[in-house]
Amino acid sequence: MEINMNRPQKLSELLNTAGRKELADILRYFVREARPEELSGLMRCASRLREQYYGKKVYFRGLIEFSSYCKRGCYYCGLQRNNANAVRYRLSEDEILACCGAGRKLGFRTFVLQSGEDPYHSDERLCGIVSGIKARFPDCAVTLSVGERSRDSYRRLFEAGADRYLLRHETADEAHYGTLHPPEQTLKNRMRCLYDLKELGYQVGAGFMVDSPGQTCETLAEDFAFLRRLQPQMVGIGPFIPHKDTRFADYCRPSSEKTVILLALVRVLLPKVLLPATTALGTIDPLGREKAFQAGANVLMPNLSPAAHRKDYNLYDNKICMGEEAAECVERLSGRVTAAGFVPDFSRGDHVDWENRLPRGRERILIRGE
Ligand code: SAH
Repeated sequence: MEINMNRPQKLSELLNTAGRKELADILRYFVREARPEELSGLMRCASRLREQYYGKKVYFRGLIEFSSYCKRGCYYCGLQRNNANAVRYRLSEDEILACCGAGRKLGFRTFVLQSGEDPYHSDERLCGIVSGIKARFPDCAVTLSVGERSRDSYRRLFEAGADRYLLRHETADEAHYGTLHPPEQTLKNRMRCLYDLKELGYQVGAGFMVDSPGQTCETLAEDFAFLRRLQPQMVGIGPFIPHKDTRFADYCRPSSEKTVILLALVRVLLPKVLLPATTALGTIDPLGREKAFQAGANVLMPNLSPAAHRKDYNLYDNKICMGEEAAECVERLSGRVTAAGFVPDFSRGDHVDWENRLPRGRERILIRGE
């Protein structure tokens, strides 16, 4: 395959115009056939595009995993409702605020609130938590990652002050989606959620696991085509890692290489995207996150959850949570970022297209014409 790796814009154009079959061929080529020098060419392309918009900055976010209760049945996830071995916990609003306080002292200006789909968290409760955080830490962004909700719920949470929302689409291929989820969970609704979130004004993150059971280059081509349509501000990509209590317990373990290649390709597809080097990647490869930065990733999400509960937010086996990925060790982690040739950044770290917008409060005042 003839691909010019010295012209990042050209490669970007190719990924943005290719049809499904061509996309699948390009993906197959990079993940299976490309020679080492071609892969370094791809990494260079991805790095150059990232630098054009974000320089060498790596944005830090504090992750708070605030509930492990979940009403969903995603077949790959350790938190699924049918897993009787899962330890369930839920942080109180005060505990969540305490995490944010500790995080703010460490320098974080984005808090990512993630949980299973916990029915206890009605709109009213969640809105209270979001507005409580915004009232105490007005210079901080709040990112939610609490799964599928109604458009009205997303609207209320946005009005309460939430800035961003992470909801991986998991796979954009209908049949593949069906092998990963029970029948009542549909790709159509997942996509509806993402479009609603975008329309409401959130910075939105989609994404998928690499090497999830049943994934092929054709399903990945669907993922790329979907990302192209949605134009999300963030994309979360990490390796699938088996969890012992799931039907995929014995599914083979992935290598970090494929994830790193796909990160680079997503950076090329969406040059302005915010792209995390995920905990899952750090779990399967101690140098995984450094490799991700070389491939165009520019976000890190150290864990701010109370240490006592951390091991119970158990999406997959052996999840790292006590070492340098723990927010308490943020200095060591930022040392690693610096050593890898990047610049740790503790600002809110909005998407470039957001940086020039008015702050949210002001925007509303202007709309009301006051
Ligand atoms: N309930 C929220 C948060 C889910 S957990 C939601 O639905 O969005 C966040 C992500 O972890 C999921 O989107 C999924 O892509 C990932 N995940 C779940 N199980 C995993 C596994 N076994 N290996 C790797 N990633 C996993």
